[in-house]
Amino acid sequence: MTDETIQLHDRLRALSMNLWWTWHPEVVSIFMDLDPILWRKSGHNPIAFLNGITSGQVEERAADLALHSRIDYAFRRLNEYLEARNTWGKIHCGNLSMRPVVYFSAEFGLHESLPIYSGGLGILAGDHLKSSSDLGVPLIGVGLLYNQGYFDQRLNADGWQEEEYTTLDVANQPLELLRDHSGTPVLVAIETRKCRLFARAWQVQVGRIRLFLLDSNVEENSEEDRDLTSRLYGGDDRLRIRQELLLGVGGARLLQILNVHPGVLHLNEGHSAFAILEETRRVMKHDNIPFRRAHRRVSLYTVFTTHTPVSAGHDRFSSDLTEEHLGVLRDDLGLSHHDLMALGRVHTDDDSENFCMTVLALKSCRRANGVSAIHGTVSRLMWRELWPSRPEEDIPIGHITNGVHALSWLAPQMVQLFNARLGGTWPSRMCHPDIWNKIEEIDDGELWETHQNLKVRLIRFVRRRLAAQSERLGHTGTIEEIDRILDPNVLTIGSARRLAAYKRGDLLLSDYEHLVSLVSDARRPVQVIFAGKAHPRDDEGKQMLQKIARCSFDESLRRRIVFVEDYDYNLARHLVQGVDVWLNNPRRPLEACGTSGQKAVLNGGLNLSVLDGWWNEAYDGANGFAIGHGGMHDDPAEQYRRDAEFLYDTLEHEVIPLYYDHVDDIPLEWVQRMKHAMQTLGWRFNADRMVKDYAGLFYLPAALAASSEAK
Ligand SMILES: *Cc1c(COP(=O)(O)O)cnc(C)c1O
Repeated sequence: MTDETIQLHDRLRALSMNLWWTWHPEVVSIFMDLDPILWRKSGHNPIAFLNGITSGQVEERAADLALHSRIDYAFRRLNEYLEARNTWGKIHCGNLSMRPVVYFSAEFGLHESLPIYSGGLGILAGDHLKSSSDLGVPLIGVGLLYNQGYFDQRLNADGWQEEEYTTLDVANQPLELLRDHSGTPVLVAIETRKCRLFARAWQVQVGRIRLFLLDSNVEENSEEDRDLTSRLYGGDDRLRIRQELLLGVGGARLLQILNVHPGVLHLNEGHSAFAILEETRRVMKHDNIPFRRAHRRVSLYTVFTTHTPVSAGHDRFSSDLTEEHLGVLRDDLGLSHHDLMALGRVHTDDDSENFCMTVLALKSCRRANGVSAIHGTVSRLMWRELWPSRPEEDIPIGHITNGVHALSWLAPQMVQLFNARLGGTWPSRMCHPDIWNKIEEIDDGELWETHQNLKVRLIRFVRRRLAAQSERLGHTGTIEEIDRILDPNVLTIGSARRLAAYKRGDLLLSDYEHLVSLVSDARRPVQVIFAGKAHPRDDEGKQMLQKIARCSFDESLRRRIVFVEDYDYNLARHLVQGVDVWLNNPRRPLEACGTSGQKAVLNGGLNLSVLDGWWNEAYDGANGFAIGHGGMHDDPAEQYRRDAEFLYDTLEHEVIPLYYDHVDDIPLEWVQRMKHAMQTLGWRFNADRMVKDYAGLFYLPAALAASSEAK
């Protein structure tokens, strides 16, 4: 081996150990060029990739393809990024640098190769870390390492969802085990009334941000507890409270071991709310003050983001489970069982009420928010009983609308177009509307062609997945048959989401005849790509999925309605980059925000959505399409019927005619709408704007309040 090869391998290794590569396509393309088949086989995981190829092979390929300079350049870019001094955060968040924001989340969606997320909540947390990194906001993430992740989805021949679990190989992950000075792995311990729970901790580097993941798979635990963190949202209440104990209390203890003093505790959803109790214990001890004062002090720098207007989405634990798991901590806090339960109860004296994590969080923070304007309102109404004497507008829950990490979701071809027309520095100025006005200068034909190319890429990807799917099911389809599925010249609608009842993933299928007529129209047909997982115990969701799957098996719809298995980061990226229209039709007002439509916008997709979540504040009459006028009905069945009618109507009278109205092979009016959508929405619904909002409205005032209180 020559020095050169060692360097080359080391550089690739260094690139693969920082998830910065996930939003830099020029790094992805290095691995892809080195060995496209191995890249796909390793699940787009550069560490598995490097473990599957010798350094000799790397050197040979790199020399053949003249990759050295690209690898050097990427390596230099990463180091410049890590060392940069003049970030937005340096200028605006200086007072957080000694005491950073600690961001707790039960899931983080950073890339398909690190499957520790299930859906929107995790993707949002991943995007939050990436934008915090780009902006240079001092922030640390805390989560759990699920070594079996959520689940892999397979459909059986009847269209019924089956779940499979694969175990993560930590040797193929960008994980570094945390050790103390003597090299011994750090072990976090938590005592319950019946046992002690232990966890080790891993560090993941996300650009400039450190993410710590706790993992119960250690010898010190009982066999059963070793599996505590195996699966995301997998178990019953007992498993759930133990996971949340590890996340909240374990996470806060880990910070103490690492000597990290949080300037702000940001709880992304209620799962991690026990962190407040552990932090309060620390402050009581450190400052020698009683519970009430310490709890009040912690609440000054605690920020809570709630994500769901659906009641079942808020964890609640029985009095017994709470006592078993929090009892020892409550002794330290000097609280009676009743006092502790009261912190998680709306009606403090109602002994029949379970302990609710959201209530604990709301009672323990000065700053709380929903994730869109409409969700802020819904949340205030939902929790008004906690502040019985206040009118709705004085309930202390505001909103910060979610956004997406642009460089993670934009197609590389689109980035090139932006670089050429908006200037290479557009990413650092993406929150300014004037940058996006330059979209106007992109040539209509060029934009359309780029979009069409991405659609072709999506269709190829879908065909490949469907071929594997049908082979597994023993369908005797031929290659030619697969190649007749989907057509890039047909209006392509994407619809992918968690298959939960309120999301109504089957709305478009409600009138079968109507659907058949739209799909098989000779001149102006439509095609739909569906994807999404149902929770393993949600039979209603699985039935909805089955309905969609059966439609896709149906002869008369077969080539134009498809269901692609195993919705994940990778499939999401292909979909949002390639579809013409993103369809979202939840039951208003139950969609907290929704973010996939924002990903589509960046890539030139148009939203067709119920006026709910982010779309309720984004739609201006010309930057996409609305289903209905924002009406609601007490009877869900009636609302379903009306919205279905609106959906067909909008498709037939607005979307389809506009799409097929071509001038010189280009749908000019449609392209105008694409541009208008990018211009009006791009600067608002990105995660940089979101993180800047959190910093300005929450983090900085919270840190300030806490530090003046401490003086
Ligand atoms: C963006 C994304 C989501 C969230 O989508 P919604 O619009 O909130 O339904 C869920 N899953 C994956 C894989 C995503 O990429």
